[in-house]
Amino acid sequence: MGRSPESVRLVVVTKAQSLKVTQAAIEAGAKILGENYPEEGVTKIQSLAKNSAVEWHMIGHVQSRKAELVAQYFNFMHSLDSLKLARRLDGFCQKAGRTLPVLLEFNVGGEGTKGGWPAWEEVRWPELVDNIASVLALKNLEVHGLMTMPPLGETPEFSQPFFQRLRNLQDFLRKQFPDSAWAELSMGTSADYEVAVQEGATLVRVGTAIVGARSYQ
Ligand SMILES: *Cc1c(COP(=O)(O)O)cnc(C)c1O
Repeated sequence: MGRSPESVRLVVVTKAQSLKVTQAAIEAGAKILGENYPEEGVTKIQSLAKNSAVEWHMIGHVQSRKAELVAQYFNFMHSLDSLKLARRLDGFCQKAGRTLPVLLEFNVGGEGTKGGWPAWEEVRWPELVDNIASVLALKNLEVHGLMTMPPLGETPEFSQPFFQRLRNLQDFLRKQFPDSAWAELSMGTSADYEVAVQEGATLVRVGTAIVGARSYQ
């Protein structure tokens, strides 16, 4: 399956990396940086964003009380995982006079510890529709697609059915909400980004394979 290089964008995940490593990633040409923790991300944005055109993406679960930081500082959010958080973000975006582009995170593997709307059973996708319609109606959020973090496997191929499920869900949502944008599929990490690209990823989130082991967890 042929994919043109520009159809996949790389998010360099700098969570739990020092300011120095993060700066080195920017100097080496990273265009998009991914952060998991709002405060850590904001500290880096405040010190590094001034002199560069880098985009800062939130990729981790955001607690309600941290929503304002995301609405104020980040360019894009991959990990919108509930209507409650969507409403809070929408309110803070309105206050900040901006719209925030987001992806909806889905749990396609069924693990209790993973965030995202429950989507591991295809027959139950119709139950998600009302909730997602409410997110799409929020004026200050702009939905661009879907994101997932599959269960950890021994091999990259283990992730394949989960990536396929996210792409099938994209087709389902396109049919349900044809007037919304669903083009982006954020999937794949150091462990499985090649499989993710084969399965249609438009954004891959790669940390350790590029910037090395994290300095803390
Ligand atoms: C940490 C993280 C990544 C990157 O993982 P690596 O194994 O370092 O490539 C990608 N996505 C999310 C949501 C993460 O939390």
